[in-house]
Amino acid sequence: MGSRAALAKPSTRAFGELRALLAAQLAGDEEAIRLLNTPHWAAAMSQAATLKRRLECPAGLREAVGLVEDEPTAGTPPGAADGTGGDGGEPAVFLRLAQRVWDGACVREEQIADPALRAWRRRQIARCDGQLARANARGLLHMPVAFELSSGCSRHCWFCAMAAEPLTDVFAFTSQNARLWREVLATVGDVVGPAAAKGGCYWATEPFDNPDYERFAGDFHDVLGELPQTTTAMALADPARTRALLDLSLRRGAPRNRFSVLSTPMLRRLYREFTPQELLLVHLVLHVEGGTRRFESGRAREPHAEALNAVSPARPGTSACLSGFLISMTERRVSLLSPCLADERRPHGSIVFADEHFESADDLGRSLRRLIAEHMPATWPAGSPVGLRADVACAYADGRLELTAAHATHTVKGDASLRTLGELMTAGRHDLDGLVAQMHWHGWSARQVRQTVDLLLANGLLSEDTLRAGCPRADS
Ligand code: SF4
Repeated sequence: MGSRAALAKPSTRAFGELRALLAAQLAGDEEAIRLLNTPHWAAAMSQAATLKRRLECPAGLREAVGLVEDEPTAGTPPGAADGTGGDGGEPAVFLRLAQRVWDGACVREEQIADPALRAWRRRQIARCDGQLARANARGLLHMPVAFELSSGCSRHCWFCAMAAEPLTDVFAFTSQNARLWREVLATVGDVVGPAAAKGGCYWATEPFDNPDYERFAGDFHDVLGELPQTTTAMALADPARTRALLDLSLRRGAPRNRFSVLSTPMLRRLYREFTPQELLLVHLVLHVEGGTRRFESGRAREPHAEALNAVSPARPGTSACLSGFLISMTERRVSLLSPCLADERRPHGSIVFADEHFESADDLGRSLRRLIAEHMPATWPAGSPVGLRADVACAYADGRLELTAAHATHTVKGDASLRTLGELMTAGRHDLDGLVAQMHWHGWSARQVRQTVDLLLANGLLSEDTLRAGCPRADS
């Protein structure tokens, strides 16, 4: 490790060291923790946080909140001021550091235990890639599970992507509830696998509405192995509590926290209340002019949002980032969800495949396995009509069948018989046996038809509305 004296004026090298030191700190290295408390490192971190703060401020906002002293320093790499990081240097170091911290939030599909759930998630992600703009699709974490520890939300954020209902109930940390919580976590861990640790403990709820959120999060870490990431719009409601959560997440090695910034005055107050060091790894989600990209879902779709959307325009898309199970602990309900373009039918930007009640952790386990069995077949089930998604256009030319969604095109190669297959699947009236019978006249074997249908299924191109023939769907 380099001389600390060299850090009085942080250089690119010093920032590289700082990054290494922070990594060691996150891993619980006591020497790193001690060093980071010394004045020189504090100075380095302070300057580093200033750079990060500059990156997070949209153009014009710096001046608005009085950060004009944060003009780029000599040697700041090109592109750094707009957050692109240039080709190295201090801001780039911070972008990489933040990226490394948030990389830990990404689900590794091999850590999904059940192959049917893994394949289902893969095809939902493929569907999203076709339906959503690239920037939207790439930003979705596709958490495998989310828990709600309250019903509704005490806030009423005008942009709320879930249009959360008012707060009506909180899951208290009683001995009975605490036992149920740990049993539920263990059950979810069994069914989902190690990737369950990438879940979250809020959805259409505000974490800090639950006075015992941190205790539930601590149990989540104990049972599933990681502290869940937290996003709160109440960072300033009780700064001591917020500090304690930041400290807890650092100590538990998962400092993935986000503060929703609802206004410019709130941003100003945040910078007054918290030190640069405290905000170093916090992702500030800026709901102000020029701030975070937002999508037309939930409350941002409502008429009253028009004026606010004009200040910070929303785009078609979704903010829902769950492809898996939503579990309400207050209502003891489990739903199966995946993101989609928010519209009239699905204003919150999620497809709700199923929604049911559970009584106990064992009961929940049975529900989860049943949902997997019913909604996640590895091959297209007999009796269900086979049809392309409504948003997938089908065109045949020169031995190629092109299946085109808003943001992706898939091509199936073959001969002119593909034209018939495309027409049949656009109509969506035949089940597998019917398709086999129709394609038989074009020389296709039953095996060929089934393989082609399963390939389209795996790529998320088929409408799953008819997957369970005769079963009413939760959101239809
Ligand atoms: S954005 Fe979050 S904090 Fe705001 S109303 Fe919605 S759920 Fe509540």
